[in-house]
Amino acid sequence: MSFKNKVVIVTGASSGIGAATAIAFSKEGARVTIVGRNQEKLRYVSEQCSAVGSKPLVITADVTNDEDLKKIVHGTIKHFGKLDVLVNNAGIFSIDKILSENVVDSFDKVIATNLRSAVYLTHLAAPHLIETKGNIVNVSSIVGKRVTIENCFAYHTSKAGLDHFTKCVALELAPKGVRVNSVNPGFVRTDIMQVLGVKKEAQEDFWDSMTKTSPLGKVADSEEIADLILFIASDKGRSITGSSFVSDNGAILVPHLGNIELQA
Ligand code: NDP
Repeated sequence: MSFKNKVVIVTGASSGIGAATAIAFSKEGARVTIVGRNQEKLRYVSEQCSAVGSKPLVITADVTNDEDLKKIVHGTIKHFGKLDVLVNNAGIFSIDKILSENVVDSFDKVIATNLRSAVYLTHLAAPHLIETKGNIVNVSSIVGKRVTIENCFAYHTSKAGLDHFTKCVALELAPKGVRVNSVNPGFVRTDIMQVLGVKKEAQEDFWDSMTKTSPLGKVADSEEIADLILFIASDKGRSITGSSFVSDNGAILVPHLGNIELQA
């Protein structure tokens, strides 16, 4: 799966799935733009990319800010001269109930981060991807396919929207030779709960509970999701578009995964 001479943007590359994806692309010879807000974490990922491949372009950006999104695409084109693959991975989890106070503020934040950013970045990147006959991989979730856990309707809704967006844009861009797909992970042990401000003990309870409930008795590593992203983005996936790929240890098959009441 060589990505030699390919240029790849990975959003949310400072941590978890995005970091593993950026490192995996670097290892396969790609020139990678890594995007996030946390400069220290980006620096660490940059070092890891450099250790296995070439030095990435680091762009500090907030994906909820339109000017920052322009900076990601323009900066990449200026630095590398083209774009072959866009991975819309940046995302946040959120605990919401419709009866909660400030529910709309929380909903707006989740949609801006998980869905709107992918829409605008795709709009900005599409002309460049048409030139290279490139492709897009959106990092969705099993929650886009099924309501799996309670008390996180904004997150579920953002990922369901991302799945439909993936299919709509795949149809629009197919005649131009651009493929668009999603990966839909189940539970992957990353910083996602820590970022939410969940106490360490509650985080451990959450991962333990998801491990016990999972049919394969485990949660995934970021590297497994990265492998799947690379396969879809590679020439091996050249006939795949408008598809979504679940990698979830069978979690989607479980009738009731649990009721999250994590105390922040
Ligand atoms: P992490 O919290 O480890 O990583 C999230 C990444 O998104 C970080 O690099 C973070 O960067 C970035 N990010 C968040 N908000 C913004 C923002 N406003 N602007 C720029 N970057 C932002 O979580 P994961 O690796 O788990 O999550 C990656 C994706 O995978 C998400 O879309 C998530 O929904 C999805 N996913 C995760 C699952 C899991 O169980 N972990 C399961 C299914 C899907 P920084 O903090 O530097 O800004």
